[in-house]
Amino acid sequence: MRYKTKQINVGGVLVGGDAPISVQSMTFSKTHDVKSTVEQIKRLERAGCDIVRAAVPDYEDAHALKKIKSQISLPLVADIHFNYRLALIAAEVVDCIRINPGNIGEKSRVKEVVKACKERSIPMRIGVNSGSLEKEFEQKYGATPKGMVESALYNIKYLEDLGFTDIKISLKASDTMRTVEAYRMLRPLVEYPFHLGVTEAGTLFHSTIKSSIALGSLLLDGIGDTMRVSITGELEEEIRVARAILKDSGRSKDGVNIISCPTCGRIEANLVTAVKEIEEKTAHIKAPLNISVMGCAVNAIGEAKEADVAIAYGKGSGLIIKKGEIVAKLEEQNLIERFLEEVEIEASKEKFNG
Ligand code: SF4
Repeated sequence: MRYKTKQINVGGVLVGGDAPISVQSMTFSKTHDVKSTVEQIKRLERAGCDIVRAAVPDYEDAHALKKIKSQISLPLVADIHFNYRLALIAAEVVDCIRINPGNIGEKSRVKEVVKACKERSIPMRIGVNSGSLEKEFEQKYGATPKGMVESALYNIKYLEDLGFTDIKISLKASDTMRTVEAYRMLRPLVEYPFHLGVTEAGTLFHSTIKSSIALGSLLLDGIGDTMRVSITGELEEEIRVARAILKDSGRSKDGVNIISCPTCGRIEANLVTAVKEIEEKTAHIKAPLNISVMGCAVNAIGEAKEADVAIAYGKGSGLIIKKGEIVAKLEEQNLIERFLEEVEIEASKEKFNG
């Protein structure tokens, strides 16, 4: 089950309704450094990102957006706080504005931003963050899920009163409990699509755990239309982790699922090195394949029945198994190369089948 939400269009990527759950990320260069920003966006695109966001803290950044947009194909979101004039400049070129109307001040200013977005039919993301709630909600509720939800409802009403409903919403906290509670609390109250994320989630290790728990729980609840895994680290890691969360929560079939044993005293090969190499060399594959790499024959044949391609290591040699059928018995040093060839063959069939 997935909650039915209103569908919006972010630069050609549909978000909400029955659209696939999209993956987003954010550049970390100074946005006015056009060359670096474009390079980062292209890296994200190659890694499988669907939508990219750039911070727009000042005019130099806002005016750089046009040049950036002309050199990229991913939909671009401008992240803006406080200054509505930056939003007006950005709205002329980008595909979505992330803003909190309550932070912008006078209603007449928000009205201008809404008018600019309407003119180009671009949506807005209301990005509630537990660390920067409006004073009234902070004082009344503290940085709690209730405070986050009240802030979101206030900002939604602000836009609805101006006749604007092309909205998506995020409710991010830096811990899993508040994040999950806030999204769960708001979900039955509005029909707008949700952008999921845990903010400032930390390094690859910590963010992977926090994001898997929070985003995984929400996705299993049927909540979420687009998402970002925030990582202090390489850009590509955000996309890799997000795609894995989508796959392992059953919300996407794309990509390779690797089944590998934890090894034990029966191990007959250096499985850790082998699986690492296989993981790296299959990371580019989009086809939904199950592959299995097992350290001895004990569970290998059983697992191989479920796998598109499998290796069962033996002493100094091993078997390549495809859909339960043994197709080769090879010396250990030749196993990975042949295994990867077979995986590519299966992946190309999937692509061919559409
Ligand atoms: S497959 Fe073999 S080596 Fe791997 S954990 Fe199971 S018994 Fe141990």
